[in-house]
Amino acid sequence: MVPLTNSPLPRNMIENSMFEEEPDVVDLAKESPSYPIDSDDVVYEPRSSRLLVRGLGENDLDEEEEDYESSARLLGMSFMNRSSSQRSAAASSYTRQQPSNSCSVPSAKKMVVGILVLVIIAFVAMFIYFVPRCTFSKDGCQKTNSSIEQLYPKASNGELFPWTGLRLPASVHPVHYEISLQPNLTAMTFQGSVAISMVVLQETNKIVLHSYDMKIINSTFQDEKVNILEYKPWQQIAIKVSKELKKGEIYVLKIHYSANLSNSYDGLYNSSYIDTNGKRRVLAATQFEPLAARKAFPCFDEPAFKASFVIKITREAEYISLSNMPKVKTTPLGDGLFEDEFEKSVNMSTYLVAFVVANLSSVSKNVSNTLVSVYAVPDKKDQTHYALETVAKLLEFYNRFFEITYPLSKLDLVGIPDFLAGAMENWGLITFRETTLLIGDHSSPIDKQLVTSVIAHELAHQWFGNLVTMRWWNDLWLNEGFATYMQYMSIEEVFPELDIDNEFLSVRFKALAKDALNSSHPLSTKVYTPEEVAEMFDSVSYEKGASILLMLKATLSKVAFRKGVIEYLKRYRGLNTQSEDLWMSLSQVTNPHTDVAEMMNTWTVQKGFPLVTVNRTGIQVNLMQEHFVLNADNATDHSNLWHIPLTYVSDICNNSSSCKQVFLFKDKTATIEVSEKVKWLKFNYRSDGFYIVDYGEQGWRALIIALKENVNVLPHEDRAALINNIFALSRSDRVSFRQVLNLLVYLKNETETAPLTEALTQLNHIFMLLDKRSDLLLVSRMTVGLNIFNLLVQILQSWEEESSVSKQALRSALLETACHLGRPNCTNQANRLFVQWRTSNKTEHIPGDLLKTVLSVAAQTEKGWQVLLDTYKHSIYDSEKRKTLQALASTQDVRKIVWILKAALDGSEIQTPELPLVISTVCRHSAGYLHAWDFVKENWDKLTQKFSIGSFPLQSIIMSTTSQFSTKTHLDEVERFFGSLKERGSKMRSVQEAIETIKLNIQWMDRNLVTLWKWL
Ligand SMILES: [Zn+2]
Repeated sequence: MVPLTNSPLPRNMIENSMFEEEPDVVDLAKESPSYPIDSDDVVYEPRSSRLLVRGLGENDLDEEEEDYESSARLLGMSFMNRSSSQRSAAASSYTRQQPSNSCSVPSAKKMVVGILVLVIIAFVAMFIYFVPRCTFSKDGCQKTNSSIEQLYPKASNGELFPWTGLRLPASVHPVHYEISLQPNLTAMTFQGSVAISMVVLQETNKIVLHSYDMKIINSTFQDEKVNILEYKPWQQIAIKVSKELKKGEIYVLKIHYSANLSNSYDGLYNSSYIDTNGKRRVLAATQFEPLAARKAFPCFDEPAFKASFVIKITREAEYISLSNMPKVKTTPLGDGLFEDEFEKSVNMSTYLVAFVVANLSSVSKNVSNTLVSVYAVPDKKDQTHYALETVAKLLEFYNRFFEITYPLSKLDLVGIPDFLAGAMENWGLITFRETTLLIGDHSSPIDKQLVTSVIAHELAHQWFGNLVTMRWWNDLWLNEGFATYMQYMSIEEVFPELDIDNEFLSVRFKALAKDALNSSHPLSTKVYTPEEVAEMFDSVSYEKGASILLMLKATLSKVAFRKGVIEYLKRYRGLNTQSEDLWMSLSQVTNPHTDVAEMMNTWTVQKGFPLVTVNRTGIQVNLMQEHFVLNADNATDHSNLWHIPLTYVSDICNNSSSCKQVFLFKDKTATIEVSEKVKWLKFNYRSDGFYIVDYGEQGWRALIIALKENVNVLPHEDRAALINNIFALSRSDRVSFRQVLNLLVYLKNETETAPLTEALTQLNHIFMLLDKRSDLLLVSRMTVGLNIFNLLVQILQSWEEESSVSKQALRSALLETACHLGRPNCTNQANRLFVQWRTSNKTEHIPGDLLKTVLSVAAQTEKGWQVLLDTYKHSIYDSEKRKTLQALASTQDVRKIVWILKAALDGSEIQTPELPLVISTVCRHSAGYLHAWDFVKENWDKLTQKFSIGSFPLQSIIMSTTSQFSTKTHLDEVERFFGSLKERGSKMRSVQEAIETIKLNIQWMDRNLVTLWKWL
């Protein structure tokens, strides 16, 4: 999946749950209504049987849990601890444990309480160990043992529900689903039936699976009527059978049900749009990742439960239906209804199942024996050609690169109006937002870069994610980090003209910024609750994941990395994996001395990244590494070490990659020697590594002198990285802001996009903070400070078509800033272009990369705003529409701001998936910033109905509305508001991140306002 990232990337948090202590038995007694007692919940599985299950999709306890569980058999009581942690994670709809920070000597009162607790623990342990011993044996207990039965949760009908875990039991594995669905696009409901064939891996007398918000009409097990129990808090249903199910046998469960089409953009949901005749059209589409397949059909909704699917969909004549596989046949059912049946699918996870019922048109072509089609609503069919050509080239590239041919005979890409994510990689049926798929006359090369990136990402998932799938959501980065890495790598190879390397560099900087917060989390993080799973879709999984893969590729070499990747895909084809499996495959193809797992585990199981401090004395260069946290007071662990593949160049040799020196820096400190002639050293060559460097007073000075003499002594990625690193060091108070300004002086001679946009981004951030504090004098002086960008003067003259994507990106960023700051030579030219565009009835073209800037200037007048509102309502070009919306949201008129926020929330005139974009745009301007924050507070319940807790859009909304506060009053208010929500989201990572960010802003202002005054 790709979240759409026009709004600021989420910077969310998690406590380091890897090392949290398990809650004790007292918590269990207090909080937990239930406890697994059934025989096959606790019977020890011999390791061999677990291996048998492996790859078929076991309920994957990791090694640590596995050992813990087996020792629990011996200890009797400690098994309770693990169960209690799972239960307490789920019992409240959203709770997160805080790490223990107490290491002081307990008081006498605490001692007494502690002893009491121990006595209770001992009592409970004896009770569990002696009284219900039968519950730990295969013989089982009498089900009438009431003291034990009360430990089960109650199903919705009042009976006991036979399972107590958020994760499903591993005793039964689905092998095949037959699904039949009849969506009714008038009543917005659907009927469905599912027949699930499953194999028993371990004898059991119950089956537990997922189902959410559906009415079960009837059900049979082995063709005999069966009673379905439901436990709503965990979205589970279960059946109990009187006779134990035999290991190795196949059984069939059939369920007939009905439900409403969802209106929250997941599950099987209804979507609508206005066509060119002004008529509202409806369609039904799916979005299942991560946990919403259960909203469309009862299923074993965990990624490791792979199975095959046959899907049948009933539709009216005016619609077509699409699913993962090609259609086999259509049967008329009478009453104007038809049933489409699709081929049996490959084995896949439930989150990859998809279907669409809509009125769509398509273009197709054959690529290496796969029929590739791009679908859109009929009005937009002529905007599908770019995507078709792009996907064709990329499919050929991936087939070759992975040495595994895409396994299906068809591949559909569908633009869905009213779609929340950027796109979703459903196998054979990739769904997109229209913005990320369609290219029309008004699209710029930057729009093409976006569409190409999203297609490249989703297509990479057909291998990474679909063919080989992470075992559980804790390793989501295996899917998303890889697809993100492949998206940049493939575009660099296939579409070099799109200048994607600059984009990848800025993405790495964003990942560093997020990961420098104490509220960040390790790439591999334990997750259980739906909210925790949703929060994994953040820039750590995507962008840090991609960054560490780039670092690994640079270390192992391009050839060895590719060989390892192919080995991994071939070995685990059709199976589920965890990080270790990838490292093992990569180790096999490298020098035997490279222990890939040993190195990479330091990057995946610890949060954050290292700061390397350089201290040179003559020929000796002393290096030290430490965990870099922006707010060093909050650092949780100072002892973390990374295996850093450290690289550097010097003034003696710096202009080719052969100059690069490499060594693996594993310890706290290291020393290297360089020639006395060396004037400066630059570490992390081309910024391929995921770490930052502090060169010390002397080292920074030498680099600044070198750059002032000649900017080309370093590649542009390195210059951008110096700017990025020095700002980060200044934010953490390791380098003075004066030193930052000294470096920026060299920018007068800078012409490359990457360093200039990085400097602009960093200065913009400061500008935004000043703007929101209404420090008008500083704000106006800051606009003059822009003169450090000599290039701006030239760019202000150039509003014509520009062919290089990189130059367009730079021009767009500079002009947007200049117009935003109200520089007259920018706004006057923008107004002139707008008038030409309007009076020529939009035939006078505005270059696509300047459209947003021009329209945003125009939106500041009443007339301009009304023209744009009309354009927004009628445009069929989605990229134009989106830029128009951003312009509308940039208004300084409070009444319009109030209107636009409301319109996007209720979805009437502005589609609700655009709300995060509207909010982030409103927040850029001082006029709307506080309104947006009030709006979020007042409408929190509605927002969480549209966007689930922990989801990417909600992360984005929280960060946009709070990340520019820099006063204690605002900090208190943010803490008070989210603190009052209790279980409704107060513990979200993004809330912790927001609070940490505000604290950092306050600190930065306290330290640097004076320096800024002097500079400006
Ligand atoms: Zn993805």
